[in-house]
Amino acid sequence: MHASLDKIVDDGLCLGCGLCAAVAGPEAIEMGRGTDGDLRPFAKEGLTNDDVTLINQICPSLRIEGLPATRQAEATNHDLIWGPYEDMMLAHATPEDVRYEASTAGILTALGIMLLDTGKVDAILHVKAADNPANFGQATLSRTAAEVRAAAGSRYGPTAALASINDVLDSEKAIAVIAKPCDLNALRNLAHHDKRVNETIHYWLTMICGGFQPDASFREFVTNHGLIPEEIRKVRYRGYGCPGPTTIESPHQVMDFHYLDFWGEDESQWSMPLRCKICADGIGEAADIAAGDAWDGASPDRQDSLDDPGFNSVISRTAAGQALLNEAMARGYITKTEEVDPDFMSRVQPHQVAKKKAGLARMQGLKEAGSVAPEIVNMRAEELSALLDEDAYQSEYEGAKRRAHAARFSPSDT
Ligand SMILES: Cc1cc2nc3c(=O)[nH]c(=O)nc-3n(C[C@H](O)[C@H](O)[C@H](O)COP(=O)(O)OP(=O)(O)OC[C@H]3O[C@@H](n4cnc5c(N)ncnc54)[C@H](O)[C@@H]3O)c2cc1C
Ligand code: SF4
Ligand code: SF4
Repeated sequence: MHASLDKIVDDGLCLGCGLCAAVAGPEAIEMGRGTDGDLRPFAKEGLTNDDVTLINQICPSLRIEGLPATRQAEATNHDLIWGPYEDMMLAHATPEDVRYEASTAGILTALGIMLLDTGKVDAILHVKAADNPANFGQATLSRTAAEVRAAAGSRYGPTAALASINDVLDSEKAIAVIAKPCDLNALRNLAHHDKRVNETIHYWLTMICGGFQPDASFREFVTNHGLIPEEIRKVRYRGYGCPGPTTIESPHQVMDFHYLDFWGEDESQWSMPLRCKICADGIGEAADIAAGDAWDGASPDRQDSLDDPGFNSVISRTAAGQALLNEAMARGYITKTEEVDPDFMSRVQPHQVAKKKAGLARMQGLKEAGSVAPEIVNMRAEELSALLDEDAYQSEYEGAKRRAHAARFSPSDT
């Protein structure tokens, strides 16, 4: 049985990634903003049954796939939580200005710049800040180092990173993609149906991701601080330090907030959509390289962040990813400071460990509640679930059921 677009949206599972609109075309689906303000697909007259069949196979809220099985088998190391990998390290962009401006320490930006400088790709598909609404992200194709650098930083608002992927696959010969793990899961899904994906995307880079912030939560935050959401014209969530201030500009004033004041003191306060809460791949299993933060317990320390130069935790998952890191070190684009291991990653990303273990229980809870739920493909879902004792499994299962019921009333408040 196929899920309709409305069902994916009404169940609170749509991420607004734009892939369905890209493959079905503008006569079939248009991206717009739903009643909650977030990005959503809207079906038009041209939407066919074949379109819906394909969307059911590629939507990242219905299917989550990591690396293809053959690439997984080639990996030197396999960790039950962290998946296939070649190496794990702490590192930063070597140029101090890139390290400073970027979200954590500039690894993704430095790699993007090197890929263009060395002619390995013609363009980088990634995400810059949107003009309007300024809290959103917007897909962009960067062809120069300056363009890559201008899009450094994290976009924590709704972002249709894949809205233009069909045109990009049509027009480009060799690109790298830097996008969220779920965007890469979606592209791995699409690769089964569209050979242009593997022909065109030469490097798959991602960030470790805890979730994005729904528009309603952003609006509530700025309103509580005396700002008018419609007047906000620029938002920089991070960068210019690690994590750097969250800077929100209106015509009348510029306000800076500490990351902890914007997101909350710990991960339990993060506001995010249902799909992010039940995400089974925030660790970027579909990527050649995944880069994240490296703070103990996943939150920065207020005192340390006054002068933290920034260190990325970096996982290379494939031989291609490892070769890229080696070349970036040899050419002086990035600097490795320390070798780390899965235990270190689990210490700095405890929420990701919990999400990996809970994946299957949560999907089963969603299904039991009559919701759509992503199928977890090639990511050790059963073995990870076996790490939960019976009480923990039941609690995750019941929690997902409750959230699925609540999502029908308020998708971003579950
Ligand atoms: C929504 C979100 C949630 C995150 N949650 C966590 C977390 O829980 N734990 C953790 O360790 N790290 C998290 N990160 C990752 C972290 O913020 C940094 O992106 C990561 O450490 C890489 O740092 P960097 O300095 O190498 O990135 P940069 O060099 O600044 O490059 C970032 C790249 O990511 C692209 N990008 C930014 N936002 C988006 C977006 N919304 N969609 C697609 N591409 C985007 C940019 O275009 C840029 O190319 C999150 C990032 C995002 C966007
Ligand atoms: S493909 Fe993306 S935008 Fe379309 S329904 Fe799925 S998550 Fe939403
Ligand atoms: S938490 Fe998962 S679903 Fe949410 S934005 Fe991150 S990768 Fe995508």
